Amino acid sequence: MSPGPRRVAIIGGGIVGLATALALRESSPDAPLTVLEKESEVGRHQTGHNSGVLHAGVYYPPGSLKARLCADGRARMEAFCTAHGVPFTRCGKLVVATREAELPRLETLRERAVANGLAVEVLDRDALREVEPHAAGLRALRVPESGVVDYGEVARAMKAALIAQGVAVRTGQSLRGVRRMNHALVLETGTGEVESDFVVNCGGLHADRLARRFGLDPGIRIVPFRGEYFHLSAAGAAKVRALIYPVPDPDLPFLGVHLTRGVHGTVEAGPNAVLAFAREGYRRRDLSPGDLIEAFAFPGFWRMAARWWRTAAYEWRRSLDPALFLRDLQRLVPSLTRDDLCPGGSGVRAQAVDRDGRLADDFLFVEGPRSLHVLNAPSPAATASLAIGREIARRAGERMAG
Ligand SMILES: Cc1cc2nc3c(=O)[nH]c(=O)nc-3n(C[C@H](O)[C@H](O)[C@H](O)COP(=O)(O)OP(=O)(O)OC[C@H]3O[C@@H](n4cnc5c(N)ncnc54)[C@H](O)[C@@H]3O)c2cc1C
Repeated sequence: MSPGPRRVAIIGGGIVGLATALALRESSPDAPLTVLEKESEVGRHQTGHNSGVLHAGVYYPPGSLKARLCADGRARMEAFCTAHGVPFTRCGKLVVATREAELPRLETLRERAVANGLAVEVLDRDALREVEPHAAGLRALRVPESGVVDYGEVARAMKAALIAQGVAVRTGQSLRGVRRMNHALVLETGTGEVESDFVVNCGGLHADRLARRFGLDPGIRIVPFRGEYFHLSAAGAAKVRALIYPVPDPDLPFLGVHLTRGVHGTVEAGPNAVLAFAREGYRRRDLSPGDLIEAFAFPGFWRMAARWWRTAAYEWRRSLDPALFLRDLQRLVPSLTRDDLCPGGSGVRAQAVDRDGRLADDFLFVEGPRSLHVLNAPSPAATASLAIGREIARRAGERMAG
C-alpha cells in the first residue's frame, strides 16, 4: 500500500455505506475518503424503502452481531438525529400473541429482550388494550424503547455531514470494474476512475456481485425479497397509536406483517416478504432475466426453495389477494376493514442465502483482498448502521495497519 494516510473508497451510498464513511472519517481524519453511489441520490434502495422503525433489539440472539450492534446503533442513531435535526419518536411497540401456540414464543422473546438489556413488560388482554385500544390478543410484550424515524432523511443528513467533513460523496457513479495497479485498486465507474488502497463494499442488493469483482467467492447469493405495504386511510390509521407487531416465525428472518405509525404520522401495514424476480423489483411485474439466471444457477436457491416453497407460495397469494393481507392484519386489529387499506409502496430486502439454502440471519462481513464486504445487512441494519459503521472501520483499520 502507498505510504501516508490510506485512501479508502466505499461502494454504496445507502445508510450502511454512509455510516461507515462517518466512522472512517472519525477514526482517520486525514485519510482521503470517497463514497460511490450509482443512483443520483443517496438512500434510494433499502434505506429509502423500509418501515422506518428504530428497533430496540428484542428479536436477536444474545451475543449475535445483530443484538450487539442494534442496541449500540439505536443509541447512536438517536444522538445523530438529535444533533442533525432529524425528527424521531420513541413511541414504543407491542408484540402481540393472538393464539395460544404463540405464547411460548412470546416468552422466548421476552427472555431475549431481557438478555439484550431491554426493560420490557408483559401485558394481559386488558392491559394491552390500554396501550392500543383497537388491538386484540391474548398477551403482548411492550417494548418502550422502540421508535420511528425516516431513514431517507437520516441518509441525506449523513451525506451533508460527510461533505462538510471533506468526504467525496459521488452520486451517479456505478462501480463497473476493478483493476490492480501497483499497490492500489483502481475502481472504474461509468464516468471516471477512483484510486484506492482499501475498499468497503456496502452494495446492498448487489453486494455479492461486487464482492466477486474483487476476486472474492462470497459463498452466498443475494436473493431479493420484496416487502409490500398498504397505507391506512385516516379511519384505519385512527385504530393504531404506534407499532403493533405479531409474534414472528422464529425460523424466518422476517417479522410478519405489522402496523407502523411513522414519524410523519401516517400508518403503514406490511411488509410481506415476496420472492422477487429482480433485485430491484419494486413492482410485481418487474423481472430481470439476468438476476433470475444468476439465482437459478446457485444451488442454495433451489435448496431454499425446496424448504420454503409453501411459505413462498402463501406470500405470493397474499400479495395478489388483499383479503388475505387484511385477514392477517385483523388478527392484530380486528376492526380494520378493506376500506381502510389503500395502495402503498414497497421495498426490496437484500437477503443472503448460503449454498445449503439457509437464509443468513446475522449481519455478515467478509474480508477480501484489500477489501471488506458487507454481505448481509438486513433489518435492523438501518437502526444499527452507525454501530455497523464503527465495527467496519475498526476491522478495516486493523487490515490497513497489518
Ligand atoms: C421492506 C423493508 C423494511 C425494513 N424495515 C426496517 C426497519 O424498520 N428498521 C430497520 O432498522 N431496518 C429495516 N429494514 C432494513 C434496512 O432498510 C436495511 O438493512 C438497510 O437500509 C441496509 O442499508 P444498506 O446501505 O446496506 O443498503 P442500501 O440502502 O440498499 O444501499 C446500498 C447502495 O449500494 C448502491 N450500489 C449498489 N451497487 C452499486 C454499484 N455497482 N456502484 C455504486 N453503488 C452501488 C445502491 O444503489 C444502494 O444505494 C427494512 C428493509 C426493507 C427492504
